Amino acid sequence: MTTVAAAPPIALPIAPTPSAQVARRRRAFAWNLGAMLAIWSTSLFVVWLWVLGGGIDALLALDASSLNALGRLTGLVASNLLLYQVLLMARVPLFEKGFGRDALIRVHRLVGFWSLWAMLAHIVLLVAGYAAEAGVNPFVQLWEFVWDYPGMLLATVGTVLVIGVAVTSIRAARRRMRYESWHLLHLYAYLGVGIALPHQLWTGADFISSPAATAYWWTLWGLAAASVLVFRIGMPLARSLRHRITVTGIERDGDRGVTVRMGGRRLDRLGAEAGQFFVWRFLDGPGWSRGHPFSLSADPARGELVISARVAGDGTARLAGMKPGTRALIEGPYGRMTGAARDSRRLLMIGAGAGVAPLVSLLEGEDYAPGTAILITRDRSSADGLRQAAIADLVRFRGIRHVPLDGPRAAAGSAWLPRTHSAWGGPDVFRHLVDDLSDVDAYVCGPDAWMDAVCADLRAAGVPAPRIHTEAFSI
Ligand SMILES: Cc1cc2nc3c(=O)[nH]c(=O)nc-3n(C[C@H](O)[C@H](O)[C@H](O)COP(=O)(O)OP(=O)(O)OC[C@H]3O[C@@H](n4cnc5c(N)ncnc54)[C@H](O)[C@@H]3O)c2cc1C
Repeated sequence: MTTVAAAPPIALPIAPTPSAQVARRRRAFAWNLGAMLAIWSTSLFVVWLWVLGGGIDALLALDASSLNALGRLTGLVASNLLLYQVLLMARVPLFEKGFGRDALIRVHRLVGFWSLWAMLAHIVLLVAGYAAEAGVNPFVQLWEFVWDYPGMLLATVGTVLVIGVAVTSIRAARRRMRYESWHLLHLYAYLGVGIALPHQLWTGADFISSPAATAYWWTLWGLAAASVLVFRIGMPLARSLRHRITVTGIERDGDRGVTVRMGGRRLDRLGAEAGQFFVWRFLDGPGWSRGHPFSLSADPARGELVISARVAGDGTARLAGMKPGTRALIEGPYGRMTGAARDSRRLLMIGAGAGVAPLVSLLEGEDYAPGTAILITRDRSSADGLRQAAIADLVRFRGIRHVPLDGPRAAAGSAWLPRTHSAWGGPDVFRHLVDDLSDVDAYVCGPDAWMDAVCADLRAAGVPAPRIHTEAFSI
């Protein structure tokens, strides 16, 4: 039963006023609009460059020059998308705030797929077109391209690198590799894109056809390179140095988890919000350079940074062995699963395993009346549960209702429920707990497949899709 104590020992959050909430939402909309406009307007600009270069006339000639015109168009599109691939993953605030991490990863996959096919089409079409014009065998033409045209040898190496990265990112291949190996290989895509570009500027008519075209490509290439340097290396280093984040305590958390507390200088200026995550590098010895994303498991407004991890492999296991005083390098804060996404006065939080971490920080940071927030947690056994003490405080002092659904997975029925609830449909569980599901914000965090099942049941139970907010703990 939920009890609400009279005098809470923990600081209650200051409720955002409705106008502050509207302003937060307007800002989020403006970032999203800006990000969409940047991508679409530049893509149209690139097609316009091709039209200006006589692309349509060449296409309608219906001879070898049509193949060349199409080859040039696919080359332009591929170059634009490849540079956007770099920009999308460079932690540029416009895209981080405009899309959020989950959507960014989806866009990155989609853009990666189309940029690869556009690049392959570009090669095949130009080889076929030039071979037809010169009346030579396409393989002879390909050989000539690689050896005789300026920058083409570099472009060939770049293409091979990009294809290698694409192949190892196919799900089946990706599952067979250690995350670290895959990530290291993935970084070769930067090199691939970087060395493929000179051939476009040396030989591509559309790239040097006008001062506007040349300025555009150099600017985009320069922006992509500078963004990686500034947002992935420079800014995280500068923030880490400025805030001097240091481990202050390490606690065992449940049977398979650990909670790390950190302090630092002027943490209020980090701009971190409950529900967000950082990529952390702890300077505790060899292997420190491998960053791991962990969400804040306590509201950062309380003056410290807290993360809670379920031990999965080397990176999480070493957290338990750290000593107070260990320095941390940070990248972030990232993530849009914050209070800004919220529309209603009531909250339904559903977390599996370590997914409970950002939900606890949100429940600590958000404003709600006692009895209007529900936290459903899902673990294999109750002894595994993370942040149990913080959850007990939330029940006691903020009046949340905690519904632990522990136990092995159900073999039938809703895939996210435990075996003990296999007779229940997932939507019925939600209807049983919340009387009006059209007026609740649902926050969901856990493994991908589990989240898909929860979200499907939330929608089936009547929660409007825009009120379901998620953060996946996988990439
Ligand atoms: C946005 C986000 C927030 C997260 N928040 C938390 C949290 O609050 N608490 C928690 O316990 N876990 C969290 N995770 C998961 C956590 O990052 C991984 O469990 C951890 O990195 C595993 O590292 P490992 O070396 O211990 O295990 P490994 O055995 O190396 O990997 C275990 C699994 O984690 C994935 N993984 C490994 N390294 C990374 C990495 N650098 N980035 C992304 N995935 C990786 C691998 O794909 C693998 O499937 C979060 C993940 C993401 C993407």
